[in-house]
Amino acid sequence: MAEKKIRQHMQNRSAQERIKDFKEVPLGFTPEQAIAEAKRCIQCKKPLCVSGCPVEIDIPGFIKFVAQGDFESAVQKIKETNALPAVCGRVCPQEDQCEKQCILGIKGEAVAIGNLERFVADYERSKIKDQSSKQTPSSKSKDQKIAVIGSGPAGLTCAGDLARKGYQVTVFESLHVTGGVLTYGIPEFRLPKAIVNLEVEYIKSLGVEVKVDMLIGNVYTIKELLKDYQAVFIGSGAGLPKFMKVPGENLDGVYSANEYLFRINMMKAWNFPANLTPIKIGKRVAVVGGGNVAMDAARVSLRLGAEEVYIIYRRTEKEMPARLEEVHRAHEEGIIFKTLILPVKYHANADGWVEFAECLQMELGEPDSSGRCRPVPVAGSEFRVSVDTVVVAIGNSPNPLVPQRTPDLKVEKWGGVIVNEQGLASIPGVYAGGDIVRGAATVISAMGDGKVAAKAIDQQLSA
Ligand SMILES: Cc1cc2nc3c(=O)[nH]c(=O)nc-3n(C[C@H](O)[C@H](O)[C@H](O)COP(=O)(O)OP(=O)(O)OC[C@H]3O[C@@H](n4cnc5c(N)ncnc54)[C@H](O)[C@@H]3O)c2cc1C
Repeated sequence: MAEKKIRQHMQNRSAQERIKDFKEVPLGFTPEQAIAEAKRCIQCKKPLCVSGCPVEIDIPGFIKFVAQGDFESAVQKIKETNALPAVCGRVCPQEDQCEKQCILGIKGEAVAIGNLERFVADYERSKIKDQSSKQTPSSKSKDQKIAVIGSGPAGLTCAGDLARKGYQVTVFESLHVTGGVLTYGIPEFRLPKAIVNLEVEYIKSLGVEVKVDMLIGNVYTIKELLKDYQAVFIGSGAGLPKFMKVPGENLDGVYSANEYLFRINMMKAWNFPANLTPIKIGKRVAVVGGGNVAMDAARVSLRLGAEEVYIIYRRTEKEMPARLEEVHRAHEEGIIFKTLILPVKYHANADGWVEFAECLQMELGEPDSSGRCRPVPVAGSEFRVSVDTVVVAIGNSPNPLVPQRTPDLKVEKWGGVIVNEQGLASIPGVYAGGDIVRGAATVISAMGDGKVAAKAIDQQLSA
């Protein structure tokens, strides 16, 4: 019988060391680990892992190159369908996608596809600092022009795919920087800004023009864009914070996770003491929510000097939507998980700053429409949690500006732009994808949508 090979695991920096700075937590595979891990792949004839990947990377194909030690060919294989491998290798929930389908996972551990992707992307980065110098810009063989709204993963993917096909693509980004949530949301210790910038440079090197400080809806409407561009892709994301609508959420010291992380990322609070961002972090920070955003907000709080950081979540840890490895790292770093708790009111001190959260103890009831057990308040269980800062991380809704300024664009009641299977919206020539369609979702689903729309735009314009 063949010897059963054990999955390789990446080393992490120790929790004591890493909570003092914003440098990356995992150290990545060594070349030896990468080759050993790649050799675990049994090269299935009908690879299920590929069907679990929204951008359809030839996973066995790239892993075969890794097993041969040909890392350069491996990364080029990935880039045939995915222009953001270093990003995806770091933040994609592979455990729910490609790795979930891996046949080795049935009786043991799936191949570490995400870690291998990360490894080869980093290998390439270490060899060539400027990826654009390596890329031959696509010849803009077609006259047609396409406008892409937003430079997050949806917009970048759509733009890159269309540029590869020879279209003249312009990305309009409202901020002064590119990358969307990859830049302004996800913290440096999970996704370094330099890596995002390099992958954006790669997209530009394919011939994509990027115009920043362009708030579409204000600077130009979609109707105006359609006069100059043959198609428009809306990838403007979901950055509108949701609140619980409980008393006291407007007190000083209560933030939405969006504002909190935006200030820390964009105003460079992470780069202290060089940048003294005006964000007040108390000694006790409570983050309300159980997703990736909540874990990020909690872990940055610790790095910015909070002494006690709580995750307050109304269900149990089992139901948390955050990636398991991020929950694990949050535990290692000393975040205190207060589960089955619901804040119902925030109280202020004499200066108007939040002082404590009034909470209810919850218990789990019957499953709700999401399939998760519904949290039910325990009668008479009111209690207080003392806090100096509260971060509300319970989700985001689609950015409303573009739909508001585009009367013919049909949207769901909750704000998502309505599209068909090809990403076509209710206006001819207008496509959409990513969080503006799905609500807050994932990087890879946004990229998958960008790809689908690029294909449909190409079909429309080639007809
Ligand atoms: C803190 C945080 C952590 C996350 N962690 C993960 C994770 O670990 N794994 C994962 O898969 N997903 C994660 N996500 C979710 C993921 O980042 C998003 O699903 C993804 O970025 C959506 O991509 P998008 O391109 O649709 O939108 P976005 O990334 O939001 O990009 C939209 C872009 O459009 C721009 N824009 C908006 N309005 C306009 C306008 N009117 N004109 C011009 N430009 C405009 C915005 O400035 C932005 O740059 C996380 C999200 C957050 C907030």
